[in-house]
Amino acid sequence: MDPQPELELEPARGSRARELRFQQALFINGEWRSAATAATFTVEDPSTGETIATLPRAGAEETIAAIDAAHAIFADWKRVPVLQRADLLLKVAQLIHQYREPLAQLAVLEQGQPLEASRLGIDYAASFFRWFGEETRRIYGRTIPHPDPRRRVSVEYTPRGVAGLITPWNAPLASPAKKVAAALAAGCPVVLKPAELTPLSALALAWLIQQAGFPPGVFNVIFGDAPAIGTQFVEHPAVRTISFTGSLAVGRKIYSAAAEQMKHVALELGGNAPFIIFADADLEQATSDLLSLKAANSGQICVTANRLLVHHSIAGDVERRLVETYGALRVGDGFSANVEQGPLISRQAVDRVEGLVRGSQQAGSRVLCGGRRLELGPNFYPPTIVSEIPAHARLLREEIFGPVLPIQSFSEPEEALALANETRHRLSAFAYTQSLELATRCARELDFGVVGVNDPRPISCETPFGGVAESGIGREGGSEGLLDFMEARLVAFRS
Ligand code: ADP
Repeated sequence: MDPQPELELEPARGSRARELRFQQALFINGEWRSAATAATFTVEDPSTGETIATLPRAGAEETIAAIDAAHAIFADWKRVPVLQRADLLLKVAQLIHQYREPLAQLAVLEQGQPLEASRLGIDYAASFFRWFGEETRRIYGRTIPHPDPRRRVSVEYTPRGVAGLITPWNAPLASPAKKVAAALAAGCPVVLKPAELTPLSALALAWLIQQAGFPPGVFNVIFGDAPAIGTQFVEHPAVRTISFTGSLAVGRKIYSAAAEQMKHVALELGGNAPFIIFADADLEQATSDLLSLKAANSGQICVTANRLLVHHSIAGDVERRLVETYGALRVGDGFSANVEQGPLISRQAVDRVEGLVRGSQQAGSRVLCGGRRLELGPNFYPPTIVSEIPAHARLLREEIFGPVLPIQSFSEPEEALALANETRHRLSAFAYTQSLELATRCARELDFGVVGVNDPRPISCETPFGGVAESGIGREGGSEGLLDFMEARLVAFRS
């Protein structure tokens, strides 16, 4: 028997970890387990390309074991007294804060973003355990006055059952935290499948949940063969709700397959966010907010500005400011001091982004800065600004998920709003103006799940987050974040 995995969760190592080799890194029914076969997969440091971990590769068998364990504890977990459930969740928040530094370092190692940003990501993850720890006490339901006085009719929110959660690599702790905290608060046991590119933060979360004292089986983590695991989430009848964040292609597959058993599905599938700067905007504020939004995680966040729409009268000024600021971000290894932008997650990610920029150049657009791979390593791509882009270019139509900012100009507000809404990937939109009338119009007419007027970061644990149209279904965070994990049941008594 291997010893329980050590996740180096001691305070500050200050540098890269040695390679972590786990045979038993699947967390099932409160135990660290190996996979049924000897198959493994490796995790790479995106800054250096070095292997940082070798992990067991789970498939259908381990997934079934995890789902069965979760299902077996469901009846008990939903009856755990609410204060006890709240305390367990709050304990996880506290442990995440306690291990902030090693968790942030782990995130830099497997995901690449600069250390300071990773620390904020850890705080963000903790905020969801705190929020849902508090929120679990406020699952109120309601009583409905019925026309027949003999009837007492109420709505009760009850947990759906086992939750299968699938998360992406761009926020290795916060992305699982949002879903896990909500599901557990609602009373659903969890099987989490984090992205194979960044499974270590999820393993750390399992370790923390174990330390917090959750009953075995309430929380399980598996990874390896993503399609095989996803298939079990869809086919195993005990899984009643699936929450997925990732690509539209995989989201669609899960949604349609889950229809067979009428499972509840929540999907967060990315966006194509417009960032509009109207002629009367506070330019200093608008450009610095845009910079902070776009610089975050090398542009690899789903709410980031994907297209800048700027009034033609100020376009030159805005372009100059952005080339001077965004174009000058310090790019490098996330552990180096003063680095403002890390690598992209993989070589394929760089190839994709490079292809989008090249394609738009070939179609006649102009690259104002960046646009060429950096010699720092295969995964580094510089902040890039592109203008004069033909309307049909893929650069304007796809989610870039990288450090590239396409700029379009407009003359009238109608034109800006029409361009902004010209996408089916409607997760977030941003608009900068000092006119109350325009601000109100943007709030009304921008058809996106999140609209920030003069606000680049309206999202927090307290707010419902999710998209409309092809950006997905369901909401994370806020009190709405519990709804994907609960059924509204009608209970009636007649005297
Ligand atoms: P991204 O482009 O963000 O990597 P993916 O949709 O490929 O988006 O990945 C998001 C998550 O979905 C990851 O955890 C990944 O392992 C998982 N995934 C990929 N393919 C499947 C699948 N067929 N079934 C279930 N999960 C999958």
